[in-house]
Formats: sequence, C-alpha cells, structure tokens
Amino acid sequence: RGAHRAPYLEGLNPEQREAVETLDGAVLVLAGAGTGKTRVLTTRIAHILSLGRARASEILAVTFTNKAAREMKHRIGAMVGEAVEGMPWLGTFHSIGAKILRRHAELVGLKQDFTILDVDDQIRLLKQLIAAADIDEKRWPGRLLATQIDGWKNRGLTPDQVPAGEGAVFGNGRGRDLYAAYQARLKTLNAADFGDLLLETIRLFREHAAVLAQYQSRFKYILVDEYQDTNVAQYLWLRLLAQRPSTGAGSPRTTAPLTSPQRGEVGSRSEPGEGGPSSPSSPSQALSPPHPASGLRPNADLSPQGRGEERAPQKNICCVGDDDQSIYGWRGAEVDNILRFDHDFPGAKVIRLERNYRSTAHILGAASHLIAHNEGRLGKTLRSEGEAGEKVVVSSAWDSEEEARAIGEEIEQLQRRAHRLDEIAILVRASFQMREIEDRFVTLGLPYRVIGGPRFYERAEIRDAMAYLRLVNQPADDLAFERIVNVPKRGLGDAALQSLHDLARTRGVPLLEAAHAMSTSEAVKPKPRAALRDLVAAFDRWRAQRDTLPHTELAEIVLDESGYTEMWQKDRSADAAGRLENLKELVRSMEDFENLQGFLEHVALVMDTDRGEALDAVSIMTLHAAKGLEFDTVFLPGWEEGLLPHQRSLDENGRAGLEEERRLAHVGLTRARKNARISFVSNRRIHGSWTSSLPSRFLDELPEQHVEVLEAKGGFAGYGSAYGSRFDTTAAFGSSYTTPGWRRAQKNRGGFEEDSHEYSQEHEPEGRMRDVSPSHLSPPGRGRP
Ligand code: ATP
Ligand code: MG
Repeated sequence: RGAHRAPYLEGLNPEQREAVETLDGAVLVLAGAGTGKTRVLTTRIAHILSLGRARASEILAVTFTNKAAREMKHRIGAMVGEAVEGMPWLGTFHSIGAKILRRHAELVGLKQDFTILDVDDQIRLLKQLIAAADIDEKRWPGRLLATQIDGWKNRGLTPDQVPAGEGAVFGNGRGRDLYAAYQARLKTLNAADFGDLLLETIRLFREHAAVLAQYQSRFKYILVDEYQDTNVAQYLWLRLLAQRPSTGAGSPRTTAPLTSPQRGEVGSRSEPGEGGPSSPSSPSQALSPPHPASGLRPNADLSPQGRGEERAPQKNICCVGDDDQSIYGWRGAEVDNILRFDHDFPGAKVIRLERNYRSTAHILGAASHLIAHNEGRLGKTLRSEGEAGEKVVVSSAWDSEEEARAIGEEIEQLQRRAHRLDEIAILVRASFQMREIEDRFVTLGLPYRVIGGPRFYERAEIRDAMAYLRLVNQPADDLAFERIVNVPKRGLGDAALQSLHDLARTRGVPLLEAAHAMSTSEAVKPKPRAALRDLVAAFDRWRAQRDTLPHTELAEIVLDESGYTEMWQKDRSADAAGRLENLKELVRSMEDFENLQGFLEHVALVMDTDRGEALDAVSIMTLHAAKGLEFDTVFLPGWEEGLLPHQRSLDENGRAGLEEERRLAHVGLTRARKNARISFVSNRRIHGSWTSSLPSRFLDELPEQHVEVLEAKGGFAGYGSAYGSRFDTTAAFGSSYTTPGWRRAQKNRGGFEEDSHEYSQEHEPEGRMRDVSPSHLSPPGRGRP
C-alpha cells in the first residue's frame, strides 16, 4: 500500500483526501469556489491509476471545456508519470459523445465519418425545411427554430417526446414536425449537430442494450467536474452509464426507433420508406418518477430490461460542483441535478470542502457576502487558507473608454512590477464590452487573447456590418459584396448569383459593377432584377453620402436602409439582442476616428495583431467562460445596473434571473487569487447619445470591511479624479445604503437634480438605463455642482 504515501496525496487536507480515497460507490463533492474540487478529481484519477484499480481506458472523466480537459491530462501525467499506458476518456460531454457515436454510427443511421454541423449549417438547413413546408421564414426564422430545437435537445427530448403544447409554438404548430424532418434530413446528409452528440448517444444506449452494457462495464470509474451546470440530456447520459451492466444485457431490446419521422410530416419527401408511426413512450417510462425540474422521466430505461423501478446498483461515480456557481440555467442547466444526487445514487457519500486555497481572505469575504444575498442556495462555510491580502478595489469612471484606459494603465504598472500578463484576466458580462478594451490594448501594444469566443471584430454581425462599410468605401471589394449580397435575404437565388459572377468574370469588373449591369438587363428575371436594382441604388446613394455625412451617421443609415439591423430586430433567437448591442457598439467605436477610411484601417490593423498567439498575454473573456479558471489579478468592469445584473435576465426570469446574475458576479470575484478590481461607469454612449447608468446593486452587497473604494487620486491614475464624485461613492457605500441608496446619492448630485424624479420612476420595472440627450448631461469636468 505504498501508494498511500504517494507524493500527490501529500498536500491534501483530510476532506480532500477522503474524496480522493473513497473510490467505491457514489461520491458528491459539494463545495465552494477554490476549495480544490477540480484538484480532487485530478488526484483521484491519478490515485485510481497508481493503485491499479483500473486502466486508463476504463476511466471516464467529464470536464466543462476542452481546455480544462487538456489541463487535467497534463496534471495527471505529471502525477503518475510514465507508469500509465494510454489516457482516460477525458473531455467534455460533447467530445466524449462524439467519440462514442462514431464507433456505433451505423446503429443510429449515420456513417462513421459523419459531419458535425456548426450553427450556420444548422440554420441553413432549417431554412430549407421551413421553406419546403411553406412557412413564412420572415415570421418564423430558422434561427428561432434552431434555438428551440437546441432547447429540446438539451432536455433530452426526441421529436416525438416534445410535449404537444411546446411543439405548437413554432410555425403555427409545426415546430415538432419540423424538428422530426430536420433529424431525418441530418441522417440523409450523414450529419449530426451539437445536441445530437448527446441525444443520439442516449438513443443508441436505449435502443441497443448490448452497446450500453459494453460501456457500462468498460467505465469502472466516472468523474464529472462542474456538475451544477449539467443539463437534462447530460444527466440522462450520465445516469445510463453509471448503472452497473445488467446480467441480461446480451439481448438487444426491441424498441421502435425514437426519432422515426412522423406520418404527414413536412418537407420529408426525400426520406422514403421511413414513414412508420413513431413509437409510443416505452413502458418503463410510466414507471419511473419524472425529473422534478423538467417533468421528464430521467430514469426511464435505466436498466436494460426497461424496468425502471428495479434500480441496479450504481458503480463508482464522483461528481463535484458548487450550486453557487450554476450559471448556465439559460442554456438548460438544471442545478437540481446536484440537489437530487442523493436520490439518484442512494447511499452516496457527500463530502464538503471548506478551505479555500485560491483567494485572499478579503476577496473570499467579499464574494461570500455577495452570494449570501441569494435565497435559493444550499449554503456553505468557506474559510480562506491564505493571508488577508488586499481589499477588493472598486472604482468608477466617466465612461467605458476611460474605464478601458484605466485598466490598460493598471496592467502596464503591473507589468513594470514584473507581473506576468497571463496571470491577468478581464471578465466582462457582455461581449460588446470587449471592444473598447481590445482597442485600448492594441493602442498600447499589450498582448491579449480572447477566450471562449471570437474577438469583437471577428463576430459574424460585425463582419457583416463591416462588409457593408467596406463596400461603400471601396466598390471593388468583391469579398465584402459576396458576404452581404443576400444578407438580409433579398430573394437572389443561386442562379442569379451565378450569372452575376459569370458576368463579372467575362467583363473583368467588380461584382457591384456587374450587379449594376444586370439590374437593367431584360435577360434577368423581374424579381432578382428588382432586388439588384434596389441594392445598387442603395450603394450609389450611400457612396454619395459618404462625402457629406459624418461617418457614424452614414453607418447608421447603411445598417438601417440595408435592412440589416431590422433582420436582427425581427430575430427572436437568444443571441439576437446581444448582436444588436454589438452593432451599436460598432457604430459607437467609429466616433473615435475622423472618417470611414481611418476606421476601416484601424479595424484591419486590430484584426491583424496577435495572429500568432503571444505566449504571455492578458486574457479577456466573458464571466461565463471564466468558470473553473484562476488568475492573480482579475478586472471586473461594467458593474452597472442593466449590465450586471443584466436587464434581460431580470426581465425574463425575475428573481431567479437576478440570482443567476449574482452567481455570475460571484464566479467573477472568486477567479481572483490576489487582486480583484471592480469598476463601473456613470455614462455609456450609445448611438451618439448618452446613456446614464447606475452602479450595480451588487456593489452595495459587498461588505465594507473587504472593499476599498477608490477616490480621486486613488490607485488608478486619473480614475474619477475630475468627475468621480458624481457618485459619492464613499457615502453610498455606507452600510445603511441599499440600492435606493445609490439613487439617493445620485439625486443629490448637481446636474441630475431635475431628472431625479424621472429616475425613480424609470427604475421599476423598466430597468436602470435610459437615454439622456447630451444637452441634459453635464460634460466631463463640469459634473461637479
Ligand atoms: P472552482 O469552483 O472555481 O472550480 P475548485 O474547487 O475546482 O474551484 P481548484 O481549482 O481545484 O478549486 O483549486 C483552487 C486552487 O487551490 C488551485 O490553485 C489548487 O491547486 C489549490 N489547492 C487546492 N487544494 C489545495 C491544497 N490542499 N493545498 C494547496 N493548494 C491547494
Ligand atoms: Mg474547478
């Protein structure tokens, strides 16, 4: 038993050690941020391997991101050295799902080399199906259907399992049929979308007991990180694998396929011979209790005989998570999964870790107080193992440009004091916030990387908008033309575009010029001809306006008249609002440049920097992408009402939305080891007009003893020095102040006086951001009474 003196066990505290060494049965580690949950999982794998309890290939470990998986592999390698052959099945739910699905693709109607569709492909396909079903795509956009189908897939629902009422939403009651048609179409294309990587694996397991049994006996140990953010589909998938293989597993069950297209479905003429009636729910589903959160029946089919009531003993599964870090509710995550672990795995051992090794006492104290304002939580003790450290710094800025400038300066100072840039992160609530920060970094020459998403100017909507502007500026920009010719849809079919290209090629002219010629040609059908005529006329007009109008105004005109903004306004998918925000931010960013040319040049330069990733770079990412990570210094800009908490969450989910926002703030703070720097701005400029914002209510929830409010001439050079006292931060931080306290502090400022009653009226329930025309607002420097 020499392994017990293994070096990797050494620094663990007794609870962590227990979690690592309790190898048999089910274990839930329920513990706060930075208590070593991920470290426990990693060490546990090392322990299993070095004790020889299982071979690497018999371990299944699920992480939340691919990056986390890579890190974990690396650490395990370091702990157990060369002794181990092969590697565990270690990856995200999706990557492991894909791996399993490829091995048995034929059983679910795919070939081994199936394609994994990205969102764009998915939407294009859905649009075709919507058109084939004679549904008005303008009213019922493909993107909306994609969101809905993803939602169903997250909940583990095949088309025939979608509750009738829900299927009725899209296309006047045809959503469910379109979903079925879509699934059938994917099969003929030999393709799977992201959701299928799990859903089809679940179907595989349910319909082929022998396959399921094979994996059940292969995986002797299952480990899951970030368990609080698993959705229903992931939960079902795990539960299937976590059962012991049953003795009768050799004989495949005869269940009708769950996703066979339904009779009379839309747009499925291409799938002859598959039109059998869909299977009813299997008998076992009637026996198992529904999942409390979703109304689903999670343990349907759990035993291969389909006898849900006869629970097979589960095997060795260890899940770790923190209910206070559940931040993917909007994407279908069910924090209840963690709360019902006991029920799902009777006799499970629940281990709590209470020592935080990551953050200083001040940071931990601030974060713990903040999250204590949530009602729906299990509650837990956390104490810091570190020193008191520095207080959490809160500062304000006039606007986000100044905020970005202050962050840049602060980072340069850190750099001068030999801090590594990759120990610094900037965590934002909304992606549009990145633009100003990225711009500032480019100006300063500070290397940075954006984690978990495209950089601001690489986003699809920004590229589209830029393509319009490029083409206005430079009519020969064919790449730009191709990008926008049918965005939004103008009814230009493949044939019309083909002849356009042909014409351009034979005449040796740019596409826009060819479009000119075609727009008057009798040879072209009336509909595409009219579309082209409108398009070239619009570009002629914009080009003329280029020399007379300010470029920001021109940009607004282009985005409006082209129908591009409207396209997103009509779009009801989850990300449409964020894209509109980004578009506004794009126009905003143009104000910093003298003319369109200068702006376009700037973007081209920004796009070019850090092509080759710098090794030592600041990380910029959303709070959502920051889960599980840690940095010495964390900047948290934009703590304002309407941004954090985000207005959309409040509007759509009320109190639950607010609590999820608070968990996000808490995740942000707990990423910091040594320094946490929160900031908020008093003004945002959108579309050239001022938007006045109030500090986040979460600031009031940070306890005074852990917070240092920077005043004029504080740590941030210039931070708030001229006008920082617009918000009398010191007064407002008094413990007796609640959110209205901010308001009171605000009302007493000169310049806002006459607006004050409007403020309080606006705040409920409309939210805390409002447009104030520039004339109502004292310009910088005159803010003081
Ligand atoms: P999160 O909830 O944010 O995912 P976590 O609970 O997974 O956090 P870890 O990332 O595993 O926490 O650990 C946080 C930090 O504390 C890491 O740097 C880790 O190496 C360190 N740590 C964990 N346990 C110990 C220990 N016993 N002694 C010293 N350092 C530790
Ligand atoms: Mg972790």
